[in-house]
Amino acid sequence: MATTETTPKVRARTGQQFLEGLARGEREIWLEGERIGNPLEHPKLEQGARSLARVFDLQHEHPDELLMPSPDDGSLVGVTHLIPRSRDDLERRRRAFELIAGATAGMMGRTPDYLNVTFACFAGRADVWARRGNERGAANIVSYQKEMRDRDLSTTHSIINPQVDRSKPEAEQAAGEVALHKVGEASEGIVVRGARMLATLAPFADELSVYPGSDIRPQDGNYALAFAIPIATPGLKFVCRDSFAKGRSAFDYPLSSRFDEMDAVAIFDDVVVPWERVFLCGDPVGYSEVITDTGWRGHIMHQAFTRAYVKLLFAFGIGHLLGNTTGVVRFDHIQEKLGQIWNMVELTRSAIVAAEAGSALDEGGVWYPDDRPFLALRGEMPKWMPRVNELLQLIGGGGFMCTPSEADVNGPIGEAIAVYFQAAGADAERRIRLFRLAWDFVGSDLGGRGELYERFYLSDSYRMTALAYTIADKTRAVELVEQFLRD
Ligand SMILES: Cc1cc2nc3c(=O)[nH]c(=O)nc-3n(C[C@H](O)[C@H](O)[C@H](O)COP(=O)(O)OP(=O)(O)OC[C@H]3O[C@@H](n4cnc5c(N)ncnc54)[C@H](O)[C@@H]3O)c2cc1C
Repeated sequence: MATTETTPKVRARTGQQFLEGLARGEREIWLEGERIGNPLEHPKLEQGARSLARVFDLQHEHPDELLMPSPDDGSLVGVTHLIPRSRDDLERRRRAFELIAGATAGMMGRTPDYLNVTFACFAGRADVWARRGNERGAANIVSYQKEMRDRDLSTTHSIINPQVDRSKPEAEQAAGEVALHKVGEASEGIVVRGARMLATLAPFADELSVYPGSDIRPQDGNYALAFAIPIATPGLKFVCRDSFAKGRSAFDYPLSSRFDEMDAVAIFDDVVVPWERVFLCGDPVGYSEVITDTGWRGHIMHQAFTRAYVKLLFAFGIGHLLGNTTGVVRFDHIQEKLGQIWNMVELTRSAIVAAEAGSALDEGGVWYPDDRPFLALRGEMPKWMPRVNELLQLIGGGGFMCTPSEADVNGPIGEAIAVYFQAAGADAERRIRLFRLAWDFVGSDLGGRGELYERFYLSDSYRMTALAYTIADKTRAVELVEQFLRD
């Protein structure tokens, strides 16, 4: 009998499909006093949306690297939804992270792969979610992860409660009103109220996820919540910081104009979360365990440090070209500064290789990267990134301020600019473009935001370094010392 070959359905979305999705629903995004429904219709948000659309398009330009058959029906879905079962899976997924990060030179930290990985590891360890009678929440997370994958959603997350008084538990800050908490139940689901600080990507996301980001006291079960809802949910509002894109020209601000992924505070004004979207509710112990026991830490750092590797490589490229443009690369201390950035690139790459080399099957059947090199990087990267900016400033000097705008370069003063802004390694326009790019990396408002992001997006270096020490295996270190304390 003749067999008929069928082409698998492609579920991974194109950029155009992603943009069409953003236009659906009644979103409530507030930016600089204005309510914005569709980010594509606003000059300060449009280019961010289009940059993300490029990330979706990449899936169709590199199907071998970025698509895989769904384990459920063989349709083609994004590789970053993979629940890894082998070292090959981990490596395949990392190559996808790298390709995606390359599209923004690592400048957009929260491309959808970030949450795809998070929910893949959550679904892979549904057994952890199911503890203490939460089978329904565990089943919900498994079906939600399939939905994310099959609809190829763009998802943001908000896991930290607002800074009211960090020295007190959530329930004791501002009479317990500000932090997100459950206030009741309706027939369709739970009702939640309060706020969560920072959901990066919110204007460009289809969905908001909430999951644990800190410990909750045993008596504060109403604050122990994990769920996901559409951005366009009644009562859900997002209040953005200033736009750094500002509708600027790509010549003047090559990064801000494209890669402002936007950060927003999420406010829940008695929002109903449907039962099928509730993953955890009222279990403070489970709230801590899903972070420590699902493997989230190692998986998310695999994505995060692959993106950081690409960004460091980008910074190295900027420094190298700056140094060659003005000739300072011939000075040995400039070479040493460039060498410092290269060291960071290579140490990051080595940590990724080491994490994959030491990876193993966890007790739930998911392939887990060796998280030790990542834990070390988690403490150091927040110090490296600001240092990279400092090194680039020391290499570029005042050149960052010799950067007339596109309007000047193409205006009446253009001929003089062509003469007086030339450099040994570049004509005036190339030199101006390069220094403007470098300034957008180290010094513009987007550059400043990038530095803050790298300091804090995986919590602060201080507490993370202390955590690395606390959970480190000290056995061999102690043995080495003990041998001299015996006789
Ligand atoms: C650009 C940017 C984007 C972000 N995007 C997201 C996002 O998309 N989703 C999301 O959920 N979060 C996001 N975050 C928030 C991020 O998760 C937090 O910034 C991070 O967890 C640190 O918390 P915090 O900013 O509230 O700082 P705090 O916790 O208020 O810390 C401020 C300072 O106080 C110190 N401190 C605070 N508490 C203690 C303590 N108990 N003991 C000792 N020292 C303490 C810290 O070390 C730090 O130096 C983003 C942050 C930034 C900067």
